[in-house]
This record gives sequence, C-alpha cells and structure tokens, in this order.
Amino acid sequence: MTHTSFIEISESAIKKNISFIKTHLGDEITFSSVVKGNAYGHGIKTYCNLAYKYGVRHFSVSDANEAYELKKHLQEKDVSIMVMGMIHNSQLDWAIENNVEFYVFEIDRLQAAVKAAKKLNIPAKIHIEIETGMNRTGFELKNLTTIIAYIEANKNHIIVKGVCSHLAGAESISNYKRITDQQKKFRKAIKKIDQYDFLNPDFHLASSAASVRYPKTRFDLVRIGILQFGFFPTKEILVHYLNKHKIYESPLQRVLSWKTQVMDVKTVKAGQFIGYGTSFFTNEETKIAIIPVGYSSGYSRSLSNRGKVIIRGKRHNIIGTVNMNMLAVDVTNADVIEKGDEVVLIGSQEESEITVSSFNDSIQIINYELLTKLPDNLPRIITQ
Ligand SMILES: *Cc1c(COP(=O)(O)O)cnc(C)c1O
Repeated sequence: MTHTSFIEISESAIKKNISFIKTHLGDEITFSSVVKGNAYGHGIKTYCNLAYKYGVRHFSVSDANEAYELKKHLQEKDVSIMVMGMIHNSQLDWAIENNVEFYVFEIDRLQAAVKAAKKLNIPAKIHIEIETGMNRTGFELKNLTTIIAYIEANKNHIIVKGVCSHLAGAESISNYKRITDQQKKFRKAIKKIDQYDFLNPDFHLASSAASVRYPKTRFDLVRIGILQFGFFPTKEILVHYLNKHKIYESPLQRVLSWKTQVMDVKTVKAGQFIGYGTSFFTNEETKIAIIPVGYSSGYSRSLSNRGKVIIRGKRHNIIGTVNMNMLAVDVTNADVIEKGDEVVLIGSQEESEITVSSFNDSIQIINYELLTKLPDNLPRIITQ
C-alpha cells in the first residue's frame, strides 16, 4: 500500500552522528544508544540496524516490549540490550533467557529476578538504580548495604552489570545545584560499591546533556538518545558546546525528514472560511493546496494557522485548522503547484528547510515529543 506520507532516514547523517559521539566519548567509555519511543520516532528497526552497521553494540530501551521489538529486528549476537524502566515480573523469564539486562530499583523486582534466575538456572543481568534526587525510581543510599547483602547471598543468580542513576535536568543551568547534589550522591554510591570485591559494575549517570555539559559524569557508560538523531537536547547545551569548541555550527546532522504529496489544489473566492469553523478567512482570492496529513499522523493540531510546509522549494503557511487527516496550505503566491508535488513537512528541499525545532518555537513542544509522536506505521525509507 502507498501511505499518505513517509519518513526518510539519512544513513550518512547517522554515520556522521555516531562517529561524532564516539569521538566525543573516546575509546574507554561505552556508548549506549537510547532507542526508546520507537528510536525517537525514527523507527526502531530502521535506526538500530543502521546504528549497528556503524559500530553501536549497546542499546537502551524503556520497557520490555521495546526490548522485544529490538531483538526481533536486530538479531546480532554481540548486541547488549538494557531495559531502563518497566518490566513486569512475568517478563523477567523472557529477559533472562534472552540475555536482556534490566534496571532493578525496588526489592520486589530484585527478589523476582533471583527467583526467575534460579528457576532458569541462568543468572539475571541487572543494573542497580540509585535514587540521587530525580525522585522517580531508584534505591535509597541508606538501603544499599541491605541490597548488596541480598545480592551477595544470591550471587550465583545475579550479575550486577551496572550501577546507575539519572540526572533531573542537566540540559538547563537553572538546575545546576540539583545536578551537582546528584553527582555527589552518586559518587557516594560508587564508593560504597567499590568496597565489595565481588561487584565490578559499569557506573553510568549521563545522558546527552550531561555528557556534553558535565563531562565528569560520563563514568564507564553513557546513555545517549537525542544527539544520535542530530539534535542537542536544548539550545543552551548547543551554545555551550559551540562556545567551548569555538565553532559556529552544530557538528550533528538531522537524520529524519517527513514528506508527503499535494492531494488537491483549488481556488477559493474572497470572503470565505477555510476548513472547519472560522479560524481562517480569505480576505482575497486564495489558492490552496490540500495535504493528506493531520494530527492522526502526528502533525500537531496546535500548528493550525501556524505551521509551514515546503512545496517546490518555497515555504508556505498552513491555513485553517489541522484536521485529523488533512490540512490546507496557502499557495496563492506560488507560480505553479500541482497535485502530486512533493511536500516537505520536516526536512529540506532546494534552498528551504523546516526543522523540528522551528515548530518548537511556535508551539513550545520539545523535539523529543514531536519526534516520538510520529506513528509507527509510516514507512521509513533509508536515503543517502
Ligand atoms: C531517555 C533517557 C536517556 C537519554 O536521554 P537523551 O537526552 O535523549 O540523551 C538516558 N537515560 C534515561 C534513563 C532515559 O530515560
């Protein structure tokens, strides 16, 4: 079937970004590629196979279902997969049998992991998450002694692959105090863990923002999501990077473009409303192009009367409301626009470009959210 729109994934951009990240981290630190949210909307199958091709061997996902999807599409034996969030106790058998590592942040999961590992006679590979101030998930420092004692008593069934935590907003300097306090707590945990010879975990704390802004938080492994796809987490982190390296342009390249075609073109007389309701009124005769994409495909309704698309190399305004499956664009000033013309929703064409972050300025949603709203069922096409 031909879809109403499709996503292009640039292989050369992936290659470039991965190479940048690896150089940035050096050889001593493991780069874990975070591919939750369908690889930030890029498509887990398409993205992860290309990431593998360019040398990524460690992936992080949010839950067991994502780990399952990843395993289904990337079957190479030398890949490590780490689940950072939800896994039901009933999924632990599957994870252990399939060599999938997972976070443990509460005693029930730890006990269930031991039980499953005993039954299967395969050790569970876990990452102990420490609560350092995010106040989401993680063991309190004061309980660490008890937890370690329990693990030691069951050390034939548990391999502690990692000890980790997550920073609550390293992408903004306004959180500086909180982030520094978290680092202090994490170092305390490291000190504690280092007292036990039977434990030799990888310590990990940083995601994209911290790996750029706070290099000391890199430890043995970093969990990098957004950078791989060509975005700095925030403008602030980008500016920090550029200043530090005395350069003017982001070293990263956007991986994703989103494209469709003009579905119909028509001329509307002056004095009419376009589409539902009364949000756009034609003060003069207006030529419109109808585009077969709407909020059901992840094109936010808040871009009504605000968003722009590119057709024949020029940017055109969206007029009226974004419907579930359609939107209208004002092409009055274009020379020729025909049914079937390529429409760029995100990406570039000739001299014009529309970036994900240009939407953010107008509607205040962040890159992460817009990307992950791109539906799984849109085709992902690999381009150069
Ligand atoms: C999403 C996530 C990351 C990656 O974050 P980026 O800002 O995209 O690099 C790292 N660690 C955890 C626990 C996450 O949930």
